[in-house]
Amino acid sequence: MNSNDNNYSKLIDKYVTGKILVTRSSMPGYEEYCEEIRDIWDTRWLTNMGSKHKQLQAGLIEYLGVEKLDLLTNGHMALELTMQALGLTGEVITTPFTFASTTHAIVRNGLTPVFCDIDPEDFTMDVTKLESLITDKTSAIVPVHVYGNVCNVEEIQRIADKHGLKVIYDAAHTFGETYKGKGIGSFGDVSCFSFHATKVFNTIEGGAVCFKDQAFGDKIYDLKNFGIHGPEIVESVGANAKMNEFCAAMGICNLRHVDEEIAKRKAVVERYHERLDSTDGIMLNKISPDVKPNYAYLPAVFDADRFGSSRDEVFDELAKHNIFARKYFYPLTNTFDCFKGKFDANDTPVALKVSKSVLTLPLYADLTTEQVDVICDIILSCKK
Ligand SMILES: *Cc1c(COP(=O)(O)O)cnc(C)c1O
Repeated sequence: MNSNDNNYSKLIDKYVTGKILVTRSSMPGYEEYCEEIRDIWDTRWLTNMGSKHKQLQAGLIEYLGVEKLDLLTNGHMALELTMQALGLTGEVITTPFTFASTTHAIVRNGLTPVFCDIDPEDFTMDVTKLESLITDKTSAIVPVHVYGNVCNVEEIQRIADKHGLKVIYDAAHTFGETYKGKGIGSFGDVSCFSFHATKVFNTIEGGAVCFKDQAFGDKIYDLKNFGIHGPEIVESVGANAKMNEFCAAMGICNLRHVDEEIAKRKAVVERYHERLDSTDGIMLNKISPDVKPNYAYLPAVFDADRFGSSRDEVFDELAKHNIFARKYFYPLTNTFDCFKGKFDANDTPVALKVSKSVLTLPLYADLTTEQVDVICDIILSCKK
């Protein structure tokens, strides 16, 4: 390892001025964005569902293959307002192996999260453990298509229908994916997307809800715009969660290039597989043949007994070389300090184990093969 240290730093310096982070935001060309926002200077229409908002909304309905979609200020408000619009009560079943947002949206609605364990292979909700968590207080299921791995949507819907529960998917990781040929946003009652800067498709900050029921759509619209129906008519107590025109313009530009970005991500993921698949003790994420993937993340699970080094040791070794993978998702949301004493992570033992052994590797469209090779060399140097 030591004799190679200088070579590694040189390569990293050459491409990213010192550091490789876990992700890097996709952006259109500077001129392309400037061209897209030029007419905002004529109209002076900066927000409040202007022409960029309308154009992006239409573009996304087509790209995502969904019936209806509304844009919001971020993915978190998509989740939070969806739960409010559906009038959920009591308990909501979800998983703790997710970003803070999913659990926070439940708690911030005054609801009680009930944590279901995850599947050890694809990290989504373990549907065999779902039904036993349903009580007479349960009102909804909020599963997460984590890392772009699609939940068992058929079984979740079957159980939800049997018990009269709503299904809200946290689809933040699944932009543009299809499952058995159907747009991923068309499953459940509502699917919530995030267009945060770090996601496969971004609007700087942004999000969307996909749905079929227009009555729900009307409620979301009221919640995102103060319940205002006209200059003198305010019908309900809404919040403010509108997407502005500059964010929508970024989305219009990024949508033109997203297929190309996903193709480049695919090449990066394939290189990781070539380099790491044969190593005992590393399990890279697998993609189901039913899914058209977006290559959003590449989680690697390290089995410390077989690999010889723990996840934390691999993380530290990469960090020494200015490469910053992420312990994503660690810690579990049911172990957060803000929930101290409320939940027991031992109720979700698989999630607990995965959270301690998973490392999300650097992955973005412009990561070069040489850089992936450097990252893999360092990971493999930890093999004992
Ligand atoms: C990014 C993300 C969110 C929240 O989206 P924001 O747009 O950042 O508010 C929610 N859930 C998951 C799983 C995410 O990764």
